[in-house]
Amino acid sequence: MNDSLDALYRDIIMDHFKYPRGTAKLTDPDIGNEGKNPTCGDEIQVAVKLDGEMVEDIFVGCKGCAISVASASMLSEIIKGKSVPEVKHIASIIKAMLKGEELKEQIDLGDLEALRGVKNFPVRIKCALLAWTTLIEGLEAYENRRRASVITTE
Ligand code: ZN
Repeated sequence: MNDSLDALYRDIIMDHFKYPRGTAKLTDPDIGNEGKNPTCGDEIQVAVKLDGEMVEDIFVGCKGCAISVASASMLSEIIKGKSVPEVKHIASIIKAMLKGEELKEQIDLGDLEALRGVKNFPVRIKCALLAWTTLIEGLEAYENRRRASVITTE
């Protein structure tokens, strides 16, 4: 990664950290879950309001490092208006990207591109994944009509 791209990515991450999106609380969410990343001290709450299969609105409340907060903020932007299957698909691509796995397809990830470099910092991967893992557990619990487990990253 060249220096100017690196600097651009850093600016995008810091913008999401300072001005996180998706922080307005929902009055009547369909899905809710919490996650913790004890290694770093990141904590997150996620809530989703569905309209049929579409994500009508999302709340993310993340307290933690810049990477965890930025990843949660970007998640809220990209999944709003998407269907549940699309959300799961995006989450699987983000997970693969963060783990440095080869991506089977290229999709427009918007600001999430800025997290590409995280794969080079293993301790930060959990920070970036926290929001996604917490959301997906919430969605799956909802689909299976069970209580969502609080996510704790290992
Ligand atoms: Zn963190």
